[in-house]
Amino acid sequence: MTEQRFDQLRLEQVSRRFGEKTVLDTLNLTITGGEFVALLGPSGCGKSTALNCLAGLLPLTQGSIWLDDQRVDTLPPERRGFGMVFQNYALFPHLTVRGNVGFGLQMRRVGRVESHRRVDEALRLVQLTDYADRLPGQLSGGQQQRVAIARAIVIEPRLVLMDEPLSNLDAALRLDMRTEIRRLHQSLGLTTVYVTHDQEEALSLADRLVVLREGVVQQVGTPQQLYGSPANAYVAGFMGYRNLLSMTVTAGVGASVTASGHGVELTGLAVGDLSPGPAIVAIRPDDILVGEPPAGPSGNRIEVSVEVTEYHGREISVQARLPHGQALQLRTDVPVERGEVVPVWIPTEQVLVFPDSQAAGSEQADRLEVVV
Ligand code: ADP
Ligand code: MG
Repeated sequence: MTEQRFDQLRLEQVSRRFGEKTVLDTLNLTITGGEFVALLGPSGCGKSTALNCLAGLLPLTQGSIWLDDQRVDTLPPERRGFGMVFQNYALFPHLTVRGNVGFGLQMRRVGRVESHRRVDEALRLVQLTDYADRLPGQLSGGQQQRVAIARAIVIEPRLVLMDEPLSNLDAALRLDMRTEIRRLHQSLGLTTVYVTHDQEEALSLADRLVVLREGVVQQVGTPQQLYGSPANAYVAGFMGYRNLLSMTVTAGVGASVTASGHGVELTGLAVGDLSPGPAIVAIRPDDILVGEPPAGPSGNRIEVSVEVTEYHGREISVQARLPHGQALQLRTDVPVERGEVVPVWIPTEQVLVFPDSQAAGSEQADRLEVVV
């Protein structure tokens, strides 16, 4: 669709401060042309700031941004040739769908015939051909967001920037639009940087993920790499490890280490530079099996008391307690009841043990749990 493709977009040592506060801290990132990259992190970690720096809506405090050998951070937004989709669709209410989508072309003084052709093509891509003459107020939220996407792609952007574009939609529509965005990316191959706090969205859409924490990159990799091997407890929290337990490493043999705390001892796999002392033990709820240990694999048998059960059709999700009161989340298809004490089994290789980078302090684990 576009004649101005590039091989690489590079962010070099990009920092942004607001007063004393560093919101983006020496961000280095190389994005390959055609790639779909998601920036993932909780609210306030600097995602929108990063996107606005890319778009040219915010000047950098430090560093540079390059498209191949062209420096772009010194260009005004309209000269970068990027398309942007925001969380609130920001459509003009008094313009029709066609008027909204064609607005950027008018600004760029594209001729009427050419403009008409491109708007038609963009509307076809987002499946809104029949809605061209409606006003935004006559459309559903999902349709409005599709208009916003059409408006971004109609200018044939070198790069598409999306800032939590689905967060104002209800759950079912969000899933549909997710598929839609993926489909558009697969058919157009537009390089996309997509910001979200939703790990499922990031995992399902992106070729690569960048996890941010307080403006600092934690890990960059494919969905499989991050899901399979989170680099630290913070990334693990985003990759489904809902249980992040503050414990103490007491012994270790090779990659296998034992940690104790909360009235239990757990053996798992060490990640990173671990030494005896404070650690974060990470376990996914569905890796905790209710019942007696199966024969064969090595693992941990502990007993937990069932506190809350939630029905989810095939499975129930359970909040249980370890002997000293620490909460443990698990999912099971074994019927268990509130108040019951049940044995559970956690295979060694499903328990990840990370250094506690914030070093000790019993509140730390609680804080990390909130992040999830
Ligand atoms: P996210 O998009 O990940 O939720 P933001 O990039 O919007 O995060 O914000 C990151 C941090 O920068 C927040 O603490 C926010 O309060 C602060 N911040 C963002 N914009 C400004 C601004 N214009 N002035 C001062 N602080 C800001
Ligand atoms: Mg934001």
